[in-house]
Amino acid sequence: MKKKKKLYEGKAKVLYTTDKANQVIQHFKDEATAFNAKKKEVIEGKGVLNNFLSEFFMEKLNNVGIPTHLIKRLNMREQLIEKCEIIPLEVVVRNIAAGSLSKRLGIEEGTRLPRPLVEFYFKNDELNDPLVTENQIATFEWASEAELGEMFELALRTNDFLSGLMSGANLTLVDFKIEIGRALRYSGDKLLIADEISPDTCRLWDTTTKERLDKDVFRLEQGSLSKAYTEVASRFDLLPRNVKSVVK
Ligand code: C5P
Repeated sequence: MKKKKKLYEGKAKVLYTTDKANQVIQHFKDEATAFNAKKKEVIEGKGVLNNFLSEFFMEKLNNVGIPTHLIKRLNMREQLIEKCEIIPLEVVVRNIAAGSLSKRLGIEEGTRLPRPLVEFYFKNDELNDPLVTENQIATFEWASEAELGEMFELALRTNDFLSGLMSGANLTLVDFKIEIGRALRYSGDKLLIADEISPDTCRLWDTTTKERLDKDVFRLEQGSLSKAYTEVASRFDLLPRNVKSVVK
């Protein structure tokens, strides 16, 4: 499958068209950004690690019937994916209080929530992705009522599955963000998990030591991001053979 033209460039990834109208190539870059790109750095090898990790998580989700955009990984940095119309909402699921939830509601970081919490944020960099209500989603028609129900279900099923998968690697899935798209191949009638699932989009703590193994290492300047992501990849036996040359 050949790349044709650049369709979109985001903070961490680039999308290219292919000869198939419903399929695009997603390229993972090495750029790390935080706080709405106010903090930026190139971290050699990050794109490769996230490509392998996102492939691994999405393939597992596909296999248990939770549909994702992943068709297949093509090489070290690229994967072939279903083209989607992205719903302009970031769907966050939380099991343990951390990050913006702890800040907003004053809940001590590390407190286990009584049940998984699903939140929606409006994808808008200029507004800093504000938290929105279901009523706002319906009023502004960002998603239909049926889609919203399906998004809740996808988010909670993904949380159940990924929590189990992570716990097998002695990792605690504290929270994560997914993006959901309407698949072009099904004329927009089928929702798929899109974007990526990686330590850029999940909070992962070592279950025993509570060490952070995710993008908070970069956000909070707590050490080497590539070391943390390499640790996650190695727990799933995912290190590409020549990883030593890409991850320093
Ligand atoms: O910052 P906050 O606590 O709201 O983040 C919740 C989860 O969503 C974290 O795992 C974070 O990495 C992820 N997230 C993301 N992209 C954003 C905002 C949050 O992947 N733009």
